Amino acid sequence: MERIAVLTSGGDAPGMNAAIRAVVRTGLDQGWEVWGVRHGYTGLIAGDLIPLGARDVGGIIQQGGTVLGSARCPEFETEAGRMMALRMLAEHDIEAVVIIGGNGSQAGAHALSQMGCPVVGVASTIDNDLYGSEITIGVDTALDIALEAIDRLKVTASSHHRAFLIEVMGRECGYLALMSGIAGGAEAVVIPEVETDPEVVAADLRAAYERGKAHGIVVVAEGARYNAEGLAAYFQEHHERLGFDLRVTTLGHVQRGGAPGAFDRLLATRLGAAATRHLAQGEHGILVGLLKGEIKPTPLSEVVANKKPLDLELVQLARVLAE
Ligand code: ADP
Repeated sequence: MERIAVLTSGGDAPGMNAAIRAVVRTGLDQGWEVWGVRHGYTGLIAGDLIPLGARDVGGIIQQGGTVLGSARCPEFETEAGRMMALRMLAEHDIEAVVIIGGNGSQAGAHALSQMGCPVVGVASTIDNDLYGSEITIGVDTALDIALEAIDRLKVTASSHHRAFLIEVMGRECGYLALMSGIAGGAEAVVIPEVETDPEVVAADLRAAYERGKAHGIVVVAEGARYNAEGLAAYFQEHHERLGFDLRVTTLGHVQRGGAPGAFDRLLATRLGAAATRHLAQGEHGILVGLLKGEIKPTPLSEVVANKKPLDLELVQLARVLAE
């Protein structure tokens, strides 16, 4: 092999740059040329590729986001779009692609691999909803950002004896909400995986107040049926009966943009290096992720066919710890 490409796709995650850097430098170490594709699958279809040297990826390990840019590209979900991408790769003499991204991006990676292109995926999404990696690039940093917000809200909530609701990201997955709720000491956690009755949330907050707590913090996942908007509206509608309001903070994209912490830099570096190692060994059609503390490959066919389960025992733990 002489030339590979690397791209970042879908939602950006802190640590993506560390993964790009690792792919480029370990690829160069193999004696290959490494090209960067700009703006994910959109750039692949448009042939927006640039050669990357060791210096081009200097000074990026500590930066959030992705220096290559990312995009959502509906065209890549069509066979015609992917055929165009294959043509661009052939025109640039690129023999394999490393695809850094989450669920959707790895579905795209699988589709490309099915069409005969050697592909290795790198598990990267703050949502932590990707099968094949117990934790993905960006999750740890996103959790830290959520915790900083929760800790601050707790201070003001305690000063005013108020109830606060904080919505975190995660799409259809409650991982970020559950973990930040546990680590932030929330009084209630609302996630898509568990049907939640707003009356129970209200009762939990009232009970916490009666037990002498000075604050009431509810962490909700954006994908929950009662997310920030739904829950706040319910509390407003039943304000007189429930007796209190919920002040809403939606973290949104603030959660994505942080500088990657040590864990994400190291995970991204190890996964990026593993991706080129697998390609050097002629192995592709796989995703590299962290499983039981080790960097392991999982076939992309398995990744797209499975959903990562959330450990529901932790939901129970969150309730007990809210005591
Ligand atoms: P993430 O990788 O963060 O989950 P998305 O779900 O937005 O992000 O997916 C990123 C991109 O991956 C999409 O815009 C699309 O180009 C591509 N993609 C998603 N699903 C598929 C699919 N089933 N087949 C081919 N490409 C896909």
